[in-house]
Amino acid sequence: MAISPSFFNWSLNKALDTEPDSLSKARIRILYTIILFSLLKAVIVIVMAVTDKQWLQVDRAVIVFALYALFAKILLYKPTSFRILSHLLLQIGIIVVFTNIFVYSHKINMVTVQFIFMIVLSSFYTLGSAFGITYSVMSISPVILFFIFKDNIHPVNNTEEITQLGFEIIAILNFLSIILCHFLFFKAFNLNIKEKEKLNKQLLMSIADANKLAESKTAFLSVISHELRTPLNSVIGVTELLAQDNPEERQIENLKILQFSTHELLSLINNVLDVNKMNSDKLVLEAIPFNLAEFIKDICSGLRIKAKDKKLNFILEIDDKLEKTDIISDPTRLSQIIYNLVGNAIKFTDTGSIIVKLSCVDYTESTINVLFSVTDTGIGIHPDRHETIFDLFTQAELDITRRYGGTGLGLAIVKQVVELFNSSIQLKSQPGKGSGFLFTISFIKAKEVGLVNTTALTNKMDLSHLKILIAEDNEINRLILKKQLNKIDVNPVIVENGLMAYEACLNGNYDAIFLDLYMPVLDGYETIKKIRAIPDMAKAKTYTIAFTASTTEQKEIFKVGFNDYLYKPVNIENLRTKLEEIALYKYKPAD
Ligand code: ADP
Repeated sequence: MAISPSFFNWSLNKALDTEPDSLSKARIRILYTIILFSLLKAVIVIVMAVTDKQWLQVDRAVIVFALYALFAKILLYKPTSFRILSHLLLQIGIIVVFTNIFVYSHKINMVTVQFIFMIVLSSFYTLGSAFGITYSVMSISPVILFFIFKDNIHPVNNTEEITQLGFEIIAILNFLSIILCHFLFFKAFNLNIKEKEKLNKQLLMSIADANKLAESKTAFLSVISHELRTPLNSVIGVTELLAQDNPEERQIENLKILQFSTHELLSLINNVLDVNKMNSDKLVLEAIPFNLAEFIKDICSGLRIKAKDKKLNFILEIDDKLEKTDIISDPTRLSQIIYNLVGNAIKFTDTGSIIVKLSCVDYTESTINVLFSVTDTGIGIHPDRHETIFDLFTQAELDITRRYGGTGLGLAIVKQVVELFNSSIQLKSQPGKGSGFLFTISFIKAKEVGLVNTTALTNKMDLSHLKILIAEDNEINRLILKKQLNKIDVNPVIVENGLMAYEACLNGNYDAIFLDLYMPVLDGYETIKKIRAIPDMAKAKTYTIAFTASTTEQKEIFKVGFNDYLYKPVNIENLRTKLEEIALYKYKPAD
């Protein structure tokens, strides 16, 4: 049962317990101090005035005493009312100033000035700046009025002015209360600063902890994704080898399923890696010359099969101008956008068609602006969800995961990648009526058209004369690489680590070296540095390609001296293209 405080209990502690912050506590203390001092002053005035039989003063002091006693008790019972009490107290203070000047002393004495000063400071301290200014102006207005009308004011009863002793006591008490108010406020002010400093320290520590946690999450995801890619690499490689080994009819179906599943898994792992990169701002664009029309046709050939499996119409429309123009851009990132958008379109469409359209919307001597649109006749997206589906791990409806699966990563990555191309993605969709995703990218045109046209390389070259050295620590990957290269008539020397590659390079002449970046004994980064430092310039300049599983390492790769890189998982076609490029454009025979 709650016990209400006794009338004789004037302690402020309980009232202060109700206020959480030190500044509000200080405000209550200041108010209470002013009230207690005012009570004391009222008692002194009553005693003095009774002695001198100044009944008007007695009346006023008794009223003031009763009011202040009431305020003190209200504050003790209900500390949250301190703002209302401050207003009342300040208004009474202004009445006291007014009556002091115009009723009792008919001049501006020191006590009146002290009163005004107390109103000014307590209004600012207890109610803040806006009320501080209001009450300050109100408290000095009787003084201004007095200055204006002083010649017309005639004292009614001069005997009502308080005696000299009373005046001196009140003046001293006023000084004391002014000092105490300042002291209380600044004590609270310092305490507040200390509290804030403590909070800031805690906040900085929490931010550091959160950052550490985010970093370890990023590192964990990165490591686990890379670790997953290594065995997946082998599965993809072996599947590819099996598919090339004239499989029987009944095996072709199974191999197709295997190929489809491994590529799905690979794109999922790539998405996780990309989300990681997005979080650590490591996503960067490459600048490679290629033919956009050819490239999109290539990507869409696989997607067309996927659409056909679902009995969907797949329409690809590419502006003629793009057929004749090579551009400089990042094909890997572009394919990521198209794969995700078209993959979704196929996934969320049960009947009808998927239309991929590339139109040239602007064309100058050096640039070409292309509007990409991916449209479907699928389930559509409610307008309420148009913004949120681009957030990480977000799907349009709760039952989407159950019906269609998915991680909610694709569109978040698409949005970020499109932004990397200085563009933004737009969505037009209605539930049941299909969806359209659109964006425009401005590309720089490549100067020499046809230089990099992949079709130029389709007449398979004889690569058997190439002397290739490969360093790869994973035994299965070594085996697969050997078989893949044998398929294109290349017979490589394969070693297990960087040191062995360096030694092999010292003792032999190679047209190209492929180095895995992460190997025991000597990793790819250290090995290339050692190779570039070989005194025999022909060996030091050997064309060297890094095997990388990460798109974030490109800059670093070139910085340490690699000539090129090849993404893992490596397939036969990639290997062939790289070797043909070496043979065609970059191959400088070692003496
Ligand atoms: P996921 O497809 O893995 O769930 P995304 O980020 O690619 O993740 O897509 C997020 C959500 O946006 C999907 O779950 C789906 O609800 C909605 N969505 C994306 N593309 C389409 C589309 N073409 N048609 C209908 N809904 C779509």
